[in-house]
Formats: sequence, structure tokens, C-alpha cells
Amino acid sequence: MKTLQEVFKKYEAVIGLEIHTELTTLNTKMFCSCKISHEDLANENTCPVCLGLPGALPVPNKQAIQSIVLAGLSTNCDIEKDSMFYRKNYFYPDMSKNYQITQGPVAFAMRGYLDLEVSGKAADERVDVEKDEDNAYLAHVGITRIHMEEDAGKLNHIGGVDGRIAGAEHSLVDYNRCGMPLIELVTEPDLRTPEEARLFMQKLRSIFLTLNISDCSLENGSMRCDGNVSLRKRGETKFGVKTELKNMNSFKNLHDGLEYEIIRQANVLDEGGQIYQETRHWEPSNKRTIVMRTKETADDYRLFPDPDLAPYNLSDEFIDEVRAMLPELPDEKRERFMANFGLGKKDASALAEDAATAKFFEDALADTKDEKIAKSLANIILNDLAAYLNAQGATIDELDLNSLYFGELAAMLSSDEISSKQAKEVLELMMKDNVSPKQIVEEKGMKQISDLGAIEALVAGVLENASEQVEQYKSGNTKVIGFLVGQVMKASGGQANPKLINQVLRSMLEKL
Ligand code: ADP
Ligand code: MG
Ligand code: ZN
Repeated sequence: MKTLQEVFKKYEAVIGLEIHTELTTLNTKMFCSCKISHEDLANENTCPVCLGLPGALPVPNKQAIQSIVLAGLSTNCDIEKDSMFYRKNYFYPDMSKNYQITQGPVAFAMRGYLDLEVSGKAADERVDVEKDEDNAYLAHVGITRIHMEEDAGKLNHIGGVDGRIAGAEHSLVDYNRCGMPLIELVTEPDLRTPEEARLFMQKLRSIFLTLNISDCSLENGSMRCDGNVSLRKRGETKFGVKTELKNMNSFKNLHDGLEYEIIRQANVLDEGGQIYQETRHWEPSNKRTIVMRTKETADDYRLFPDPDLAPYNLSDEFIDEVRAMLPELPDEKRERFMANFGLGKKDASALAEDAATAKFFEDALADTKDEKIAKSLANIILNDLAAYLNAQGATIDELDLNSLYFGELAAMLSSDEISSKQAKEVLELMMKDNVSPKQIVEEKGMKQISDLGAIEALVAGVLENASEQVEQYKSGNTKVIGFLVGQVMKASGGQANPKLINQVLRSMLEKL
């Protein structure tokens, strides 16, 4: 079995993504007033329009148009004022009207891009670009278009394998999802590694969550990603034949499915074989991709303008109104965190990337502008809290955490009221018992001694009984200072501020 590293010596991977996002935060479907819900009983939310019964007339959901314009503006797209809906004809039991309403050559949003910062281990996969001293590089990913369409229903295959129709004893159909507003984003074939694909998806998800246009659940399928991938020999300019991967319903699956497929294609090509344009299904449990169907061509769909829906002409006013609704996006947030709180790029990105984490950070700071507190807090959230959440298998917004307690803790730590060791202890108790860190510190008598006079007295006491170490220090063995710090700490019952002990010790030793 080859590794990705080996394949990339000889071949370059070309990857383009097609990402469907259900606008789950809207109240009603795309062309009717049926409720949007994942919880209701099968076929409860249906009507003549979403079932496509004869004579029913679709009416576009204005909020859905708002959402797609928001998505376009926040991914650097041009908004096309004039576009229309088309019918894409095909037969499948999950769609009773036998066509899907989608957009034609002109989509609401076109010609956008996202820039990805690829760094750390994720950057290792890319072998043909220069990286900076942090092993980071920038990947510019073009966005071809974002168009509006409606979702199809859902088939539940009973007794099949991995939810596939093959081998199923029978299949049930649920039309609740029929007519759900869906936006499809198509990227240019600009991605070169599975990590870049994963980062693109993560960044897009973070933007869409910030826009609050969807709950973006990969697990529940409200955000779904298909990966198109082909190989070409390094130096070759023509693209190779691509395959399309389905079922990549987690960031890990997206990465691993593409990795697997790249290696599979390399093996086929190395053996003198040929890649066929086909749709393949990623099976994470078996670590393989299998053929679902060979490619249908655009002609098969017989796309034509939907006669029931008038062409769109978005007004400048409407677009401006939507622009005014744009919230602060993760990249802007990162810049603000760096500028306002003096955070490093890495910490600022990590906080800003996830809307819930960013909100928690800002809530915890309350109105503090203090850079030291902000840095302490970032540290607590990104290290201690992240480890805790990881162990609990929970996300920050799933637990009932009191953000103000975290701000309090960061303030105590940064003003040296408690040591970082004590802070860890306090944090643990704080999460366990949900009490304020102030109260914990008081009850446990944990306060760090940061009073200069008190520390000077402690140091003087230790030095009096340590003539041997003092001699050693004076003869150049400065390492004994570690031992002396330990003695002072012990004398303080573990409560003296280690930074201050160090300072006072050094200055008193110099004077001796
Ligand atoms: P199709 O007509 O097969 O759907 P499109 O041209 O619409 O193909 O492209 C679908 C997706 O596949 C886009 O994200 C595009 O960037 C990507 N893509 C196109 N050609 C290739 C290729 N040779 N290798 C990898 N990805 C490709
Ligand atoms: Mg296509
Ligand atoms: Zn309906």
C-alpha cells in the first residue's frame, strides 16, 4: 500500500468540492409554507407544492434568497441580480415530482474565493509550495458559484448494507425533506491535498454558522460534501479523469476518503490502468470506496427554465440591505482579537474559528480590555477547557458553563493572585461544583502570597539558615537558586508567588 507522501512525489492531486447546505434556520421550505424540521414523523410536513401534485404553484421563500446572498457576500462572490430557477429532470423515488428546482447557468452568487491558512501538520501533505518558518502557507481556493435549489426526500432502506438500496428488503420514503431550501457551493478544482479540502469545509462551516443560515450538522446531513478528485503527473497541465466521492459526513471522513481515493487512483495509473468518471461511495468502516454509478451527462437532466417561477431581478436596495446584515466573520474576528487583545495569530484563529468559542471568550472577558487577562483567558480556554471538553466529548455550548467564572479566574491568574498550578486546581473544582473561583480560593485559603514585604521576610528567613548555598551562589554556582526557591515556597506553605520569590531572592543574594 502506498502512502500519500509517496503518491505526491509523482502525482499532483486535483480536488474540487460540491457542498450542499440546508438552510435549517428558516421556518419554512423553499417554495411552500411547510415547516422545516428534522424531528417530526415521516411525511408530516408535506403539501401539494413540495409533493409536486398537479396544479400546485411554488412561491419562493424570500428569506432563503437573503441567506444565499449572505453566503455569497461572505465568500467574496459577485451577486448576480438576474438569475432564474430551472427544472432538473430525473426520476428517483425520493422526489415525487420527477424534477428538482435548481438554478441554471447563472446562480445567485458567482466567482468567489476563500483563502486558507494551512499550517502545522496539515501543511505537511503539500509538497510543492514554499512554507514560512511556522510551516504555513496560504491556499487560494476559487468558488465557482453558489446556487439555490430544493432538497429531495429521504429513502430509508430496510435490511440493506450501509444505507444503500442494493440488497435492501424494502425501502420507505419520507418526503419531509422534499423542498427544503438548499444552497450548493461548487469550488474550482483548486485544492491539492485532503487537508486543504478539510480546512476549506471547516472554514465554510464556520462562516455559515456565523451567518446563522444553517445548523451545519455534518452528522445529520444538513451540510454535505461531495469530493471530486483526479490525479495528474507532476508537471502535467491537463487534468486527469475525476471520480466523485459521496458520503463524507465528517471532517475525518472527508480527509480519509480523499486520501484513500488518491492512493487508489495512483495504484490504478501505475499499473497502466484507466480511471473512469464515476461516483463512488466512501465506506469508512471498510476503508474503501466503491462504485455507485457511472457519470450521467448534463443532457440527461434536460434542464430548462421553470415556467412556474418568474426570473429574478434583485434590486440594489435588497442587496445593500443584506450586506448591512452581515455579522463579523471569523477572519475579521481573528484580526480584531489580535489587534485589541494582543493575542498571537494562532490563539486568535483558534478562538475566532468556532463561533461558540469566540462568544464564550468575549462573554468571559465582559468589558475587560486588559491584554494580560485576555491572554490568560485564551490560554485557559484553548488548553485546559479544550482538554476538559475533549475528555467529556462535548462542545463548549453543550455544557452549562459560566463564562464569567472563567474571566474571573483569568484575572486572578494574570494579577498573580494565584499561581498557574493553583489555577488548574481551581478550574477543576469550578467545573465540578459550579462555584465561583473567588469563592474556591477563599474557602481553600489558596491565595498566592504576592505581598513584597511578606516574601522578603520569607526569603530572609531561608537565607539565614542556608549559608552553604549562599556561598555556592557567590562562587558562581547560580543553579542553587532552584533549591532556595523551593525552600521559600515550602516556608510559605506553597502559596508564595514563584516569580516574586525569584526576583527577591536574586536581588537579596546580590546584596549579600
Ligand atoms: P460535473 O459536470 O462532472 O459535475 P463540474 O465541472 O460541474 O463537473 O465540476 C464539479 C466539481 O468537480 C467542481 O468542484 C470542480 O472544481 C471539480 N472538478 C472538475 N474537473 C475536475 C478534475 N479533473 N479533477 C478534480 N476535480 C474536478
Ligand atoms: Mg456538477
Ligand atoms: Zn410543502
